[in-house]
Amino acid sequence: MNISDRVKALLEELPPGVELVAAAKTRPATEILEAVDAGVKIIGQNYVNEAEAVWPAVGSRARWHFIGHLQRNKVKRAVKLFDMVETLDSLELASILDLECGKAGKIMPVLIEVNSGEEKQKAGVMPNDLIDFVKQLPDYKHIQVKGLMTMGPLANEAEGYRPYFRLTRKLFESVKGLNLPCIKMQYLSMGMTDSYKIAIEEGANMVRIGSRIFGPRS
Ligand SMILES: *Cc1c(COP(=O)(O)O)cnc(C)c1O
Repeated sequence: MNISDRVKALLEELPPGVELVAAAKTRPATEILEAVDAGVKIIGQNYVNEAEAVWPAVGSRARWHFIGHLQRNKVKRAVKLFDMVETLDSLELASILDLECGKAGKIMPVLIEVNSGEEKQKAGVMPNDLIDFVKQLPDYKHIQVKGLMTMGPLANEAEGYRPYFRLTRKLFESVKGLNLPCIKMQYLSMGMTDSYKIAIEEGANMVRIGSRIFGPRS
């Protein structure tokens, strides 16, 4: 199968209401365009530099989600390109994002990244800190919290992801239950090539899939 066939098969397989983000790190613009032509509507990028390199060829034919770790000094450039930041992981980043979105006259939807496996080397808000985190988040005018995102620790088999996805779903419901005026819980982004089926079973309505679309990364 080529990229186009894989996208079409995947889109047929995903239940209604589940949004596909094509995780396109390291992929050239030609491959991204092939995915877009086959029906991909959202491109996920981990690095601002990489996104800038392929953006001119694809541009507004897709929406762009930032799914990597966003460094402070890249925020200004990220704000120009991206339609959603899935990886808000600190109050400091929230404040810088709000500032830069204000300057750009933009309102940025964001997801809070949860470090569901409590892994030291990974970014994301720790599960036990999430409620305090959202309560401390000021009512910013230029960013809009719309849900949660998680990766989960790398597992040998798909089932290994389930506890972390289940925990993140529980946190999603807890935050929703707070009914904070500045937060509109709408998206739960979890699941990748190896784990998206489990993620959907556990309530994901946004999956980020790379290798299943583009083939293995070299
Ligand atoms: C690479 C990546 C994915 C997709 O991973 P695959 O296993 O290739 O599907 C999803 N989310 C993030 C944050 C990624 O960096």
